Amino acid sequence: MNIFCDATTNTFLHGNFTYFVLLMAGLVVIFILVGFIIQQKKTREIMERELAHLASIEGKDVEYELIIQAMKLATWHIDLETMEIVFDNDYREEQGLFSPKPDTRMMQVYEIVHPDDREKIKTQIKDLIEGRTDLVNAQFRMMQTNDKYYWEEIYCTVAERDDEGKPAVIVGTSMCIEDRKKKERELINARKHAEESDRLKSAFISNISHEVRTPLNAIIGFTDIMPMVTDEQERANLMSIVKENNSKLLRIFEHMMNISKIEAKDENQNLNIEKFNLVALMEQCVAKCSNNNTNPNIDIEFISKETSMEVNTDRERVEYIVRHFVENAMKFTTQGSITAGLSVTSSNRLRLWVTDTGIGIDKEHHDLIFERFYKVDSFVQGAGLGLAVCRSFALSLGGDVDFESEPGKGSSFWLEIPNDVTKAN
Ligand code: ADP
Repeated sequence: MNIFCDATTNTFLHGNFTYFVLLMAGLVVIFILVGFIIQQKKTREIMERELAHLASIEGKDVEYELIIQAMKLATWHIDLETMEIVFDNDYREEQGLFSPKPDTRMMQVYEIVHPDDREKIKTQIKDLIEGRTDLVNAQFRMMQTNDKYYWEEIYCTVAERDDEGKPAVIVGTSMCIEDRKKKERELINARKHAEESDRLKSAFISNISHEVRTPLNAIIGFTDIMPMVTDEQERANLMSIVKENNSKLLRIFEHMMNISKIEAKDENQNLNIEKFNLVALMEQCVAKCSNNNTNPNIDIEFISKETSMEVNTDRERVEYIVRHFVENAMKFTTQGSITAGLSVTSSNRLRLWVTDTGIGIDKEHHDLIFERFYKVDSFVQGAGLGLAVCRSFALSLGGDVDFESEPGKGSSFWLEIPNDVTKAN
């Protein structure tokens, strides 16, 4: 029985032990599985985090790339040990901009910076390297071709430092700002023009009111007393004074009309090109002025080898210029001669000149004489507009005006226009 019992117990125990082992093994497997699943989950989470991080870095690279592309930048770095500059990206669109070949040193870059900007940019980069500043933002001109520079703007900063904390690499961006600079220049010019117009308006009002009042007073005064004058000779004198002042007034209005045309910038639109005999025009012009000459101490003459020179240009403008040169010569010459003539220059342009033996013009006024309202002597009659009109008219004819003068000896003013002469002697 015992044996039986023992055997039964043994069998029973043996069977239970097997179950126990199996159960434990099962539990171990379950633990391992759970552990494995947890581990897997953790690994997946880490991987997901890393992937997300990678994606964000990638996203930032794309953003960064897009920004430098949209802003048309070039990005570069300078290795401070070798002082080599390397362009990493270049999205600038203009042609011929500086983009270094491999192995380009900063010294070579400085050589093509405009001489006026070179020291400034060198100092700024030095300040960055030596820690006096954290960021450089500079605008300077770089050579594009032998005689042409373009404007560039750079931003740069230290990107890497060595073990001692000294800058090792500088990174930066370059942008071509030629268009922006051009607009800046245009705006500055527009502002100057507006200020100049404002100044001219004031000068115009004060000059013209004086210049108009003087002949107008003479006209009004003399016409008022004319009915009371019975002597014929005296009446004739008064009439000639009134006439003279009438023409002065007319001339002032002519200057005013012309200057306002120039101000409105439509002087080219009003050109009236026609064929005419330049020799005859100058002859008539000088003769008219000579008829008005009241100074017996000056001879006014026109000299020309040719009797006819057919030109194709604006007759009124040429006449205005020649007449003004002769009138000025008469105003500033008390003794000697005034001679007008025609010649062809070495650059094959027609030169219409008027030379006088008058007071001449001091060197210090030479650059200003063609400016509006400029007069060497403010007490001399005239608004100082005539030569400014002459210059604008000359330019509208594809020509120019200029002069030579020596104080005490005289002056020579001339107009040069393109030579399209047909001679007919
Ligand atoms: P305006 O219209 O008053 O005649 P301009 O513009 O013609 O004035 O001339 C400006 C200034 O240039 C004159 O006020 C004078 O000082 C100088 N100038 C012009 N022509 C001569 C000349 N032939 N000789 C000496 N000075 C001259």
